[in-house]
Amino acid sequence: MKDGHLRILLAGNPNSGKTTIFNELSGMRAKVGNYAGVTVERKTGSFSAGGREIEVEDLPGVYTLSASSAEEKIAADAISAGDFDLIVNVVDSSNFERNLFLTMQLAEMKMPMIVALNMSDELEKEGKFIDTPALSAALGVPVIKTTGFDRRSIAELKNFIAKNALSCPAAHFPWKSAGDNILTRKIAEISRVLSDALPAPFKSYSDWMAVRFLEKDPSVTASVRERAPHIYGAARGRAAELEAQTDETSESLVAAARYRIIDNICMPCLRTRSRARADFTKTLDAVFLNRFAGIPIFFALMYGVFEFVFALGEPLMGLLESLFAHAADAISASWPEGSFPLAKKLLVEGVIGGVGGVFVFLPNVALLFLALSILEDSGYMARAAFLCDRVMRRFGLSGSSVIPMLLGFGCSVPAIMATRSLKSRFERIATIMVIPLFSCGARFPVYMLLIPAFFAQKYCGPVMFAIYIIGIAAAMLLAKVLRETVVKGEDSSFLIELPPYRLPRAKTVSIEVWGRTSGFIKKAGTVILAMSIILWMLSTFPEKENFSRDYAAEIAKAEANPALGAAAKAEKVSEIENAKLSEAFDNTAMGRIGSALEPVFRPLGYDNKIVSALLGSLAAKEVFISQLGIIYGSGSGTSGSDMTLREKIAADYDTAQGISILIFILLTAPCVATIATTYTETKSLKVACAQFFGLALIAYCAAFVFYRIALLA
Ligand code: GDP
Ligand code: MG
Repeated sequence: MKDGHLRILLAGNPNSGKTTIFNELSGMRAKVGNYAGVTVERKTGSFSAGGREIEVEDLPGVYTLSASSAEEKIAADAISAGDFDLIVNVVDSSNFERNLFLTMQLAEMKMPMIVALNMSDELEKEGKFIDTPALSAALGVPVIKTTGFDRRSIAELKNFIAKNALSCPAAHFPWKSAGDNILTRKIAEISRVLSDALPAPFKSYSDWMAVRFLEKDPSVTASVRERAPHIYGAARGRAAELEAQTDETSESLVAAARYRIIDNICMPCLRTRSRARADFTKTLDAVFLNRFAGIPIFFALMYGVFEFVFALGEPLMGLLESLFAHAADAISASWPEGSFPLAKKLLVEGVIGGVGGVFVFLPNVALLFLALSILEDSGYMARAAFLCDRVMRRFGLSGSSVIPMLLGFGCSVPAIMATRSLKSRFERIATIMVIPLFSCGARFPVYMLLIPAFFAQKYCGPVMFAIYIIGIAAAMLLAKVLRETVVKGEDSSFLIELPPYRLPRAKTVSIEVWGRTSGFIKKAGTVILAMSIILWMLSTFPEKENFSRDYAAEIAKAEANPALGAAAKAEKVSEIENAKLSEAFDNTAMGRIGSALEPVFRPLGYDNKIVSALLGSLAAKEVFISQLGIIYGSGSGTSGSDMTLREKIAADYDTAQGISILIFILLTAPCVATIATTYTETKSLKVACAQFFGLALIAYCAAFVFYRIALLA
């Protein structure tokens, strides 16, 4: 280092990209001259990095430092002169082995050095890569990948140089790893002789001088003869012994040994992608497929998914909710007074209340599918199937039924279709029967609506998780029962190819997420819209003309009551409003149907509103939300309070009822399309009916039990 300047040398084979890197490093600040006395170009330039001015010289490209040509001599001399802080050895990674010969020679000199693995783009194209940490450990010097013409890559190199320039360790003497043989013993002997005889500054170079002496490098030979004439003969004698014993020239012995070292310590760092991936995959599988940890990790990941969806989805959902509320208010406010009041009601209560109520869950649904497709694309889902095979067998199923089941978390329809891959018909029927218990994406918005209505924020994730677990447990139990009774028979064999793990590709994931999310949007715009309109009509007419109580007066009285605090007042008002709503709903067609069925569902804690919503949800589970949205006139702003649908539900029902509804939604068949698919896939009306009524029965019993327990608690 001279007056705070750092000086670095770029050394490397011809065409390794030195000049490209040099130009990129120095920008326009390069000086071109000639080496004194020879017509080889000498290029120096400078750049600043890490707050330091760094001078860089582009040495002539050489394959070795044996100094048999003018270029080699210039390069060798520049390095031997030692007036630099760091050598940057530019290596053409796509010619890794050949380039390393020079790297070995440089390392022998034990100079501060870093290796720039250039042309890494080329190597990448060949499907290979160099394990830089391993190479760095083998050589004992820092290693960095570069692409000469890539500005960002060279900017990284700049920082890397600045970081390492003053603290760079000397390279390991590579011959240490060559083992003990006649050649290495001679090198050690000559090195000892030289180190005893040479003047101080050269002592530390004795190792590489010994190697170079055996290579018959003219400048080293000359240097020894000049500086330590008395041992020159002794050194020569050792070299002659070596040649006599091996019947080879010492220079070819050294060259061959160098390639052996390269083969042994460096080439293992050059890997093809698949091999590296295989190693990576093996390491990850040791964890994910671990006998003991595997299943807990699987559940932990699923739990993480729900926490993630809640944490990110809720604020986005709030945003959409207020958007729809504003839209409804804006429409109400700007609607011309007195004209088409029913159309206004339909639009605000039926369409915005119904479809909008479902639509606000779009972020949650998208996030759920995002998480699932990341797990899928990373290669984990296949592991989940593999992992579950062992467990599945206890329930009369196999790993083959796991994939359809996991698909069931998205939608039961494709999941049921996916059971075609099962060879055993009995196992297939059992799998189809239980697939709806794997909670599908359509139920998810219902959970998102209900869970936060009845549980404190911090319990939402765990409750959601519990819902899914209850579904899985029910599926396993049902499968076991079915396999031991009606669909006995052999299991399918299970063979699965585990794909390598990889970072999920943004493109695959986004296509997947978009596909599913747009499906949700389409559904909202068609089935749910149509259902919303029908249900709105059924839930609005006939309209109640004369109420049994004067609700307006009651509200006015509650609001004027000085004994009530603000919170109590709001509660009282919403109580009265809900009572009015119930009375109005009781009179409608849907209300009457609900009331007719209500006795059946009373043991589960449902009133006619919930019953009507459950009826609507036969078309698609999301309609459950639409129907409640319609009944409660969500977002219409007409009720005078600006509570969200969720808040209205929370005010109208208690937690035990909430749990009962959640269980019922979870365990009943998701929609008519599912049952239809079961029919087309099994060609059996019996199976389809058994699925629909069987699940309904299970749902009814489970909801009853959960409701009663929750009431006690
Ligand atoms: P030098 O002989 O070591 O000075 O090498 P040059 O800098 O002249 O580069 C030789 C050729 O390799 C030129 O055509 C460069 O454009 C190209 N090159 C340099 N670096 C890279 C790299 O990282 N990747 C690829 N693909 N080509 C490179
Ligand atoms: Mg060049």
